[in-house]
Amino acid sequence: MDRLERIARNELEALKREWNYPQVNLKVDRTKRWKWLVGRAAPSDLSITLGGACHDYDELAIREVVRHEFAHLLEWRSHRKASHSPIWRFYAKVLGCRPRANSSEIERVEAMQAATYDRKGQ
Ligand SMILES: [Zn+2]
Repeated sequence: MDRLERIARNELEALKREWNYPQVNLKVDRTKRWKWLVGRAAPSDLSITLGGACHDYDELAIREVVRHEFAHLLEWRSHRKASHSPIWRFYAKVLGCRPRANSSEIERVEAMQAATYDRKGQ
């Protein structure tokens, strides 16, 4: 997990500089509670959380997760939305990650995530 975290932090630092978004921070969930979680973006504290499901991902997959979640926070900054809207897809493409999560696991997690955003967005 240390190696994973280093890769994720390097990726995020580069994105923060490129997009002038220094407030974003990275969290790594080490509890069993979120062992099903791949990644999560939280507008409330501008954090990206890596969950237990990505602990054995390879480097490319981890970078993909960070870019995917960063696209959500860019969407939040410009449109006060965090979803898989066309705006998110635009940012995801610009960041060079797949405009859709290709793993059903990620998609399932994201569906739950969207509900969280809806509640906090009120
Ligand atoms: Zn997403």
